[in-house]
Amino acid sequence: MKGRLRVKNKIYCEVCRTAFLHRDEVSPGQVVVCTVCGAELEITAIEPEVKASRLEQDPETEIYRRAESYARLRGYTFNEDKELVLEGLVEKHRMFGDFYCPCKFDHIPENICPCLETRMNEVRKMGRCY
Ligand SMILES: [Zn+2]
Repeated sequence: MKGRLRVKNKIYCEVCRTAFLHRDEVSPGQVVVCTVCGAELEITAIEPEVKASRLEQDPETEIYRRAESYARLRGYTFNEDKELVLEGLVEKHRMFGDFYCPCKFDHIPENICPCLETRMNEVRKMGRCY
């Protein structure tokens, strides 16, 4: 007899605006990492469906942790521009309210780090992010 399939939680990430599957049980207040973009999310509700919102933390901590998580999830390493890019992201957050790519001009959700191209495996194809 086959074992019962484990219930999977589908969690919507408000950073990359996609839903990802979280295999383990979650409870309110728990922090989970979005497997698509590396953002840290706090579980705010589990009934009737699992809801999560962006974990509140200072911008510098948030983007450093997101970048580290994302790199770990994808098996990427940082290049010599890491500090420069992260500083640029913090600056963008200060000026425009979110971590828009410092290498791009448009302040649109698709350009929030990690940007859509990067989430779509651009790094694997091009060897580095934009
Ligand atoms: Zn996400």
